[in-house]
Amino acid sequence: MKRFQFNLLSGLVISIVVLGIIAAATTFVTTRVYRDLSFEFQRDHTDRLLAHKVEDVLAASEEGARRLGEQFLAHADFKAALDATDADRLSAVLEQQLRPPAEMVSQAAIVEVNVYNRDTGLLGHASRSSEVAGVICPELVHRARAADQPSGHAAGLCVSGNQLYQAVILPITDTSTSGHLQVVSDPVPMLAALGEVLEMPLRLVLSGGDALHVSPGWNETASGNAVVSAYTLTASDATTLIKIEAAGSVDALLSRLGQTNRRLTVVVVALTLLAVAIALWFVRYSVFKPLRELSYQFSQGRLVVGVQDGGANAGGAGNAPVSFHALGELYETLQDMAIRDPLTGTYNRALLEDRLSQLVAKQRREPATAAILLVDMVRFKYVNDLLGHHTGDLLLKQVVDRMAGVLRESDTLARLGGDEFTVILPDTNSEQALQVAEKIIQSMEADFEVEGHKLSASVSIGIALMPDHGKDVDTLLRNVDYAMYTAKKSQPGCAIFDPNTAAEIKAARMTLDGALNHDLEPNELFLVYQPVLDIKTGKISYLEALVRWRRPDGRLLLPDDFIRVAEQSGLIRQLTEWIIDTACRELVSLQQSSPDLRVGINLSMHILHDYNLADLIGAALRRYQLESRSLLLEITETEVMMDPEQVIEILDQLSDMGFELSIDDFGTGHSSLVYLKRLPVDSLKVDKSFISDMDTDDDNASIVRATIDLAHNLGLRVTAEGVESRQVYERLGEMGCDSYQGYYIGEPMDKTGIAVWLHEGREVLHGL
Ligand code: C2E
Ligand code: MG
Ligand code: MG
Repeated sequence: MKRFQFNLLSGLVISIVVLGIIAAATTFVTTRVYRDLSFEFQRDHTDRLLAHKVEDVLAASEEGARRLGEQFLAHADFKAALDATDADRLSAVLEQQLRPPAEMVSQAAIVEVNVYNRDTGLLGHASRSSEVAGVICPELVHRARAADQPSGHAAGLCVSGNQLYQAVILPITDTSTSGHLQVVSDPVPMLAALGEVLEMPLRLVLSGGDALHVSPGWNETASGNAVVSAYTLTASDATTLIKIEAAGSVDALLSRLGQTNRRLTVVVVALTLLAVAIALWFVRYSVFKPLRELSYQFSQGRLVVGVQDGGANAGGAGNAPVSFHALGELYETLQDMAIRDPLTGTYNRALLEDRLSQLVAKQRREPATAAILLVDMVRFKYVNDLLGHHTGDLLLKQVVDRMAGVLRESDTLARLGGDEFTVILPDTNSEQALQVAEKIIQSMEADFEVEGHKLSASVSIGIALMPDHGKDVDTLLRNVDYAMYTAKKSQPGCAIFDPNTAAEIKAARMTLDGALNHDLEPNELFLVYQPVLDIKTGKISYLEALVRWRRPDGRLLLPDDFIRVAEQSGLIRQLTEWIIDTACRELVSLQQSSPDLRVGINLSMHILHDYNLADLIGAALRRYQLESRSLLLEITETEVMMDPEQVIEILDQLSDMGFELSIDDFGTGHSSLVYLKRLPVDSLKVDKSFISDMDTDDDNASIVRATIDLAHNLGLRVTAEGVESRQVYERLGEMGCDSYQGYYIGEPMDKTGIAVWLHEGREVLHGL
């Protein structure tokens, strides 16, 4: 999870940085493009303006020259001189007219006036300044004549003597002498004056490279941030005459651009931050929040909220508020993991409790019933211990499949751990619950095939009903547990919770629990020993250990008063451990004076199903350095015959370890000869109810005789318990009974008592 967060975080940081870089690059490129476009636009604008103004100036100067020419042509002296074809007079008239302050000469830029005859021979000439030598641009006149425009004028530009001139040629028609009048002007001063109009420094450069005019400030402007526009003037034959350049400073433009850039940057940064904020918000709600919620749920050991209703085996993934597909899948997987048992795929305890809480909450709102079944597999540990956990796991899966097969979609099956399952049956009464329990029990009847093994598995089922047996989760689970104790008495079987039994179990459990914990009061639980004697030799065969419980009020409880409760409440294992340990320890001290002494321990059916029993006894033997033949184990006939197939294997195991095994209270259960033969037992202990009055009750005497014969035929030794009189003792001797136990020879005695008895007993025995 940490790694994921780290990656996500670095990914986020990288994304933000990349986004920032993209935004910065975009801003940069945009401003560059914007700047270039602005420059282009500025240049374009200046180009047009310059062209426009230059053409205006030339048009104005042409117009001035034309008007002047017309004035000449209309002048009487001029006509007269022309008619007279007197060149000197003509030149004089022209000169007079040109000389300032001639009213007609409005333009100081007029440089010279020439008159040509029809054959372009120069008839008259006048120039404004003596610097101008000769006729300027005569080729224009030739061209005009060639063009032969009978009316109207022609105009053109030319360069002469490193000077730009404009010439206007007017045809001379209304005099007797026809020809052309050429008015030449200098357009440069007017063009140079454009700089002020345009507010830009200008430069006029001839095609040869000579500058005709350079405005002050040209160099500074053109070498700085400037847009330089140029306009070229050409001669009539399209050769370049002059280039007019205007340098427009773009400082103002740049400052405006800079301002715009700053605004743009602010907007982009703001948008980027907004995008990052939205992304973070999105990630927070779609990624971090679900993850945090999930980890919180895990840390609380609870399932994730919003578990949907589903069938007994249906997937119950909740509705995750996740929008990323992959993350959504991950979320669902984790959620599924949180509510499922990984081995069997059924729901786990967390989901069970959650669903029970939902049921309880629903029940508070509207009356509803439900049944809770606690299903416990009988002897499952045995499969695990003997065939390995892998086989055990496979068997569990098959058991789950069979259970699921008899459940409805609306039922919930959950594994509590080990071989314990819980089923919730909604809207179910006691009869229906019993029916379902029966169906589950029946579904287990056929053998299971697991990796080549044919295995049988049966279950015990406790049932509690809501609301009769509890209106909250804890009470319901506790009470279904009590029902399970009762169910276990009749394996395989089921039982509905009974408050009376529960109260009994509860009370005993509480006291027994206290007695077995570490604060055990000295002598609160203790063992007494009753000798079993060999009839033929008169020697002690073994001492049977019998447990006693002295209550704090001084009352002595016999095993019949509390063994069953210990079995039902699950404390029997603890109790047995204590008994085995105590018996072994006390045997060691008794063996100091009687080295071959053995002790007999009674084993409860419940502890017999605990497949660690062998380990438990083995550990005690090692702890006290005892040999296995020092122990004799008694199991009552009723308990053995309840489930002989299963008991046989564990008894085999115990027998292999070298313990002598004895069937206790023989005659009270219904022994099958078949099993009796197969059981690895060494002796039978005939129940005291047949023995104590066999001297007076012939039926019992017959039973005892038959039992002794049967046992001997099967190769078993026979012990008679409850021998209270010499007569009985003697009859047993006659019948060939091997050993006996009873008040006649000795009552159960505590540790000190038995030590004394052992010390004195030999003499007693010799006297028998
Ligand atoms: P059990 O194993 O058959 O033990 C013999 C019972 O007969 C003992 O009762 C003993 O006190 C009683 N008894 C012995 N001689 C005579 C006699 O001459 N006449 C009469 N009327 N009774 C005699 P206890 O000690 O009350 O034990 C009752 C049963 O409790 C035992 O029957 C045994 O099944 C069980 N038990 C005793 N101790 C333990 C124990 O440590 N663990 C387990 N699991 N069960 C035990
Ligand atoms: Mg016994
Ligand atoms: Mg007995």
